[in-house]
Amino acid sequence: MRAVSATPVARLERLGALGLANRGLTPIGHLRSLRGVRLGIDIGGTKTALALGDAEGRVIAHTRVPTAPSGDALRDLARIADAARELVAQQPAGERALEIVGVSLPGGVDPGGGFVRKPPNLPGWDGAPVRDTLARALGAPVALENDANAAALAEWQFGAARGTQHAVFLTMSTGVGGGLILGGRLHRGDANLAGEIGHLPLVWGGEPCACGLRGCVEAYIGGAAWSRRLARETPRASLVAKLAAEEGAAPRPEHVVAAAHAGDAFALAELARFNELLAQTLCMLAAVLSPEIFVLGTIAVAAGERLCFAPLRERVRANTWARPQPTRIVPAALGERLGLLAGLGVAEEALRNPEPAPRA
Ligand SMILES: [Zn+2]
Repeated sequence: MRAVSATPVARLERLGALGLANRGLTPIGHLRSLRGVRLGIDIGGTKTALALGDAEGRVIAHTRVPTAPSGDALRDLARIADAARELVAQQPAGERALEIVGVSLPGGVDPGGGFVRKPPNLPGWDGAPVRDTLARALGAPVALENDANAAALAEWQFGAARGTQHAVFLTMSTGVGGGLILGGRLHRGDANLAGEIGHLPLVWGGEPCACGLRGCVEAYIGGAAWSRRLARETPRASLVAKLAAEEGAAPRPEHVVAAAHAGDAFALAELARFNELLAQTLCMLAAVLSPEIFVLGTIAVAAGERLCFAPLRERVRANTWARPQPTRIVPAALGERLGLLAGLGVAEEALRNPEPAPRA
């Protein structure tokens, strides 16, 4: 049932698992439209990006609308569905059949894959039945993933990890998000909770983390935690302090990266600390998962080859077992396009690797 060329029966089971069962939308009807387009929806706290695309991640048409959360998730989803229908209606008649919809959203997704859990910046959305609401509104099966898993899928299918079977994606923004591709499919783990790389305990009983645990990776190299450290530690004379003051803002990791590029000693020391902690994290992941590739986003991409990737590769190589092929450690490739491709990555994974229907 994992093969792309699934049998009609497998397709039916898959469509049932994607929220069409008992919704008045017969999966049989959708078997006729299996060659239609995919719709990707990337829901963020401020903007929602919608993209129509194909299996190769080619975007046919796209639009962005404000998410403008009203406190009522169903009302917000109705507006997103309106924008989606409008986008589809603009296509030539032959390209209006939606094969599947993939949704990337912040927060967790429940074990059954239908509801969002505690999404930050989306008041009123906790527990919202996103999958079935959109499936009903759009008349197509819908798959949901949290944004880190969606980004991992997009980088694997369309970006830096294309062609691999075992890939780890890691992004450091406010928090630290991760996604695992193992054996040629997204690894969700029990209860849909795998891939939370940001919450590996890096220091036992260490700094408090936003998740309620202590010593998590995120409590050291996440943007919010790093900013708190910078507020305490940044010397007034450093370029980091100067760049922040020019903005009238508190120092952030972006200022560290910019100052490190200019050779500021404090910024270089901060980045070296970041690299050490990130290398330690990657070594633990390498020992357990043995990926072919690590794809790193955000801060690592901004720091670049000389300030991040070269020292990181050296540290990881020195602290992991020798392999026939060294594990590649590379920057994320999709950049700004990630917003359009994340949802399409989710859609593609749901077609390639359908999950069995959840047990009632
Ligand atoms: Zn944590």
